[in-house]
Amino acid sequence: GQGVAMVTAVAARLAAHRCLLEETLAPFRLTREQLAAVQAQMREAMAKGLQGEASSLRMLPTYIRDTPDGSERGDFLALDLGGTNFRVLLVRVATGGVQITSQIYSIPECVAQGSGQQLFDHIVDCIVDFQEKQGLSGQSLPLGFTFSFPCMQLGLDQGILLNWTKGFNASDCEGQDVVCLLREAIGRRQAVELNVVAIVNDTVGTMMSCGYEDPHCEVGLIVELEVCGSLEGDWELLEHSVWHREMLERGRPRLLCELTTGWSNSRVQQTCLELAVCWGEEGKAFTQGTGTNACYMEELRNVASVAGDSGHMCINMEWGAFGDDGSLSMLSTCFDASVDQASINPGKQRFEKMISGMYLGEIVRHTLLHLTSLGVLFRGQQTQRLQTRDIFKTKFLSEIESDSLALRQVRAILEDLGLSLTSDDALMVLEVCQAVSQRAAQLCGAGVAAVVEKIRENRGLEELTVSVGVDGTLYKLHPHFSSLVAATVRELAPRCVVTFLQSEDGSGKGAALVTAVACRLAQMTCV
Ligand code: BGC
Ligand code: MG
Repeated sequence: GQGVAMVTAVAARLAAHRCLLEETLAPFRLTREQLAAVQAQMREAMAKGLQGEASSLRMLPTYIRDTPDGSERGDFLALDLGGTNFRVLLVRVATGGVQITSQIYSIPECVAQGSGQQLFDHIVDCIVDFQEKQGLSGQSLPLGFTFSFPCMQLGLDQGILLNWTKGFNASDCEGQDVVCLLREAIGRRQAVELNVVAIVNDTVGTMMSCGYEDPHCEVGLIVELEVCGSLEGDWELLEHSVWHREMLERGRPRLLCELTTGWSNSRVQQTCLELAVCWGEEGKAFTQGTGTNACYMEELRNVASVAGDSGHMCINMEWGAFGDDGSLSMLSTCFDASVDQASINPGKQRFEKMISGMYLGEIVRHTLLHLTSLGVLFRGQQTQRLQTRDIFKTKFLSEIESDSLALRQVRAILEDLGLSLTSDDALMVLEVCQAVSQRAAQLCGAGVAAVVEKIRENRGLEELTVSVGVDGTLYKLHPHFSSLVAATVRELAPRCVVTFLQSEDGSGKGAALVTAVACRLAQMTCV
C-alpha cells in the first residue's frame, strides 16, 4: 500500500534526477566526430597562423632551431615565471648529468596584478637573494628566463609580451620587451650584473629538457593545475594520494625546502615542489594562475614570418587562445560561458579555460550550482559556500576522482568544503568532476593529435615516431588525465606512434639548455 507507493515515489524521483544529471552533463561528453572536428579546426588555425593570416593560434617563432645534442655544458641561472610558482634556479649541465638547485619565491597577488616595475623589481630582488644564498654574488652567469606568456620573439633574447594570461595582470608590460623590462630592473638595482641570454616559453623548456635525453622529442606540452591554499591544505591532498606515501612516512616537516632536500624519489620531490605554492616568508599562500599550451618543431619553410627555407624552428602555438575567434562555440557550454565571464580576461583563452586547472574547478562549481537549482543536488538548497568563487579547487578533481577513494571519502572532502550532502550527492559530484576532466583531457588529446599529424605530413612520412615532453601538475597528478590524452591521440592520429615523457623540471632545465645551446653557438665561454 502506502510503503510501496513511497518507494516508487523515491525511485521515480531518483530516476528523474538521473535524467537531469545526464542532460546537464551531455554537452561535456564529446563524440569521436566532435573531437575529430576540433583536431581539424586546430589544423586549419595552425596553417593560418603560420601564414600570418588571421587565426586564434598565433604560432609564434621561438628562434630555437634545434633540440639539444647532449654536448651542452656549463653553469646557468634560470628564472621560471608563469607556472605554478616563481623560481630562481642554478643549473649545472655537466658530463654526469644536470644538477639543479632552486628556490621558490612568492609573487603576491598584489604584485602579479600591480605595476610592471614592481613585478620586475621583485623578481630582481629574488635573484639577488638567491645569488647571495648560493654564494654566486658578483658572478654573471648566462641566464635563461622561462616566461610562460605569449611573446612575439624577434630573436632568442627579445620577447614582446602580447598579453598577460592566467592570473597575471601587471600594468605597463603588454607590448613591451620583457627582457628589457628585466634589464631595466637590474639597472635600478645597481649592485647586480646579469647576462640575459634567452627568453623561453615553458612548453619550449619542457621540449628541450626531454630532448636532452630523447632526440625524438619534438613537441612540448603543458597542462597545469592551479596550486593554491595553505600548506595544511596541500598536506591533505598528499594524504589522499597514494603516490606520496613515501613522503608521509617521513613526517611533516616545517618547511617545504627542508622537506624536499635529500630525497631519492625525484618525482615525489618534483610533485611536492609543484604543490608547494609560493611560500612567503611568513608561510602565506595564495593563488597563482596556470594554463595550457604546446610547442613543436616546424619546417622553417612553413613559417612565413622568419626568413629561410631549410631547417626547423620551434613554434610556440599559444593554443590556450584557440577558439577565441568563436570557433569553439559549438562545444562551449553555458557553464564555460559563466566561467569565462567571471574571469579577468573574458573572451580570451577559451581553449585554456576548458582544459587547464585554473578553471576546471569553476566549471564544476557552476555545474553544481545549476544541478542544485534543478533540485537534483543538495536537496535543492543553494548555499553561500557553493556560491563562493574558487572554493572548488581543481586539485579536488584529482582527489575526488582518485580510484583509491571510497565514496565516503569523497563525501568527507566535500564536507570539508562546507557542503553537506547525501551519498547520492557525492556520487553525482564525482560524475560531474569526471565529465569535466574527461572533456579537458580529450580536448588536449585532440590538440596533440593535430600537432603530431602536422609533423608527419610535413615530413611526408607514412608513420611518425615522436615523443611529447609534458609538464604540469594536472597532467602529472590527476589519476586519469594522462591516459585519456594518450587514448585520444591514438584514436585521432593512428599513423603516429606517440610517446609521452614527463619532464622533470622542464622550465628550469629547459631554459638552461636553451641558454647553453645559444652559448655554444655564439662560442661564448660559459664556465
Ligand atoms: C600561456 C602560455 C603558457 C601556458 C602554460 C598560457 O596561459 O599563454 O604561454 O605556455 O599558459 O603555462
Ligand atoms: Mg612549470
